[in-house]
Amino acid sequence: MTYDVAVIGAGISGAAVARELSRYRLKVLLLEKEAEPAFGVSKSNSGIIHAGTQNPPSSLKGRLCVEGNRLMREELASDLGLNFVQCGQLIVIFDPADLPELEKIKADGERLGVKEMRLVDRAWLDANEPNLGPEVKAALLVPSAGIISPYRFVYALVENAVRNGVHLRTSCPVTAVGRGADGLFALTAGGQRFAARFVVNAAGLRADEVSALAGAPTFTITPRKGEEYLLDRKREHIARHIVFPLPTKTSKGILIIKTSDGNPMIGPTAHDADDKEDLSTSDEGLAEVLAGARRMMPTVSRRDIIAYFAGLRPASGKDFIVRHEDSVPGLVNVAGIQSPGLTAAPAIAVMVAGILADRGLELKPKEDFHRLRPRPVHLFQVPLERTRALIEQDPAYGDIVCRCELVSAQEVRDAIKRGARTLDGIKFRTRAQAGRCHGGFCTTRIMKIMQEELGLAVTEVTKRGPGSELVKEERK
Ligand SMILES: Cc1cc2nc3c(=O)[nH]c(=O)nc-3n(C[C@H](O)[C@H](O)[C@H](O)COP(=O)(O)OP(=O)(O)OC[C@H]3O[C@@H](n4cnc5c(N)ncnc54)[C@H](O)[C@@H]3O)c2cc1C
Repeated sequence: MTYDVAVIGAGISGAAVARELSRYRLKVLLLEKEAEPAFGVSKSNSGIIHAGTQNPPSSLKGRLCVEGNRLMREELASDLGLNFVQCGQLIVIFDPADLPELEKIKADGERLGVKEMRLVDRAWLDANEPNLGPEVKAALLVPSAGIISPYRFVYALVENAVRNGVHLRTSCPVTAVGRGADGLFALTAGGQRFAARFVVNAAGLRADEVSALAGAPTFTITPRKGEEYLLDRKREHIARHIVFPLPTKTSKGILIIKTSDGNPMIGPTAHDADDKEDLSTSDEGLAEVLAGARRMMPTVSRRDIIAYFAGLRPASGKDFIVRHEDSVPGLVNVAGIQSPGLTAAPAIAVMVAGILADRGLELKPKEDFHRLRPRPVHLFQVPLERTRALIEQDPAYGDIVCRCELVSAQEVRDAIKRGARTLDGIKFRTRAQAGRCHGGFCTTRIMKIMQEELGLAVTEVTKRGPGSELVKEERK
């Protein structure tokens, strides 16, 4: 099939672009090299829907962040059934002499369109964020910031895009981007050939390589590592807001992060790295994160940490690259999408649609665009009364598979129906295996359900795609 647009990369950027284009009468292809969407940078971040502060007022990322935040609050959270929680953020200072810094952040934010910010004093903080340490003197309150499950955000966009006709191909790494005799792009991906009028490159850490493949070696991506440490759910109420210190030159600093699933997180670090595959964490990273978090909230303890991970921000200079490459007509690069890319993605997608329209792509709205996506059931989020009603309707909701995170067999089956094909895909969609026991109790049960639903042999069940099988051979 010949596509109007081929989107490369099913992280938050590619997913948002595909969903935005699915509003129009277009043939859209979404190509992903991994076994499932959201296995790149979009799975390893803080899950904050930033307000837009801490960005230069003239930056593209600042503008797109504020617009992405607005789209989340006003449309996407309800349209896509997302668990967005608008908890607000505090940027704290330890020295009253830093008040002008907070005032500057507030003024810059206002220039970008961030609303309702105000400076709050220690008395306000004592009443509204009681676990802050004695060193904290004042803060800037930014109410429009919030939290979300980053992978479930990607899955919702992809699911809705597919519902609206987008073709998703996973395990399909793009290895060549040429031109056919007809002038169309000729893509080779996963051993198949695809033709497309336009290509949107949203390949995250590999966006520089994909752009070069297409004939535009115009930028490089430098990974900037961020280590994050997840705390036990028993610390769920440690903070009411997302708590930031003053930003540094390269990052927003070490934060206390509420997450939409309950467990708080501390982090991330921000250090340039050489290796696009190196997701290791380090003793130095842990020490840096603990020191930063404990200065703001001294009750954070190393013993609270139940898991950790690192993510690599795909940085290229200081700002996002969202542009048509004139040297390769029809190629639009969405690259250098470092933080706040998770927030900005829906606004990036609108911008990309505009660039494509300027280049001659006709955007005729579909009459039958399905804007809404029903919210999946997550027992850990529903009140007991609703759980009872669900179990009466379908007893599989009472069959608890993951005890740490309260996930039922029905939720695992539903995740598979919605596209999960790996153990990690099920974990990201449902939280089964994400608790304190790290899947010690539930993994074999989930593997059994995957075998039943997908008709797989046990040796074909993988953690995150080919090469990550858990069982080598089955003894009869
Ligand atoms: C530690 C950390 C914390 C962060 N916190 C936040 C936050 O709180 N809020 C926020 O707004 N942002 C945050 N960010 C930034 C955010 O995570 C990124 O901006 C965003 O995830 C980038 O998404 P993407 O789709 O551009 O890239 P990715 O998610 O990496 O998607 C790119 C996709 O392209 C695929 N791909 C690559 N090469 C090919 C190929 N050749 N063929 C096919 N597919 C290919 C990859 O497999 C991948 O799935 C954070 C980042 C980090 C690292």
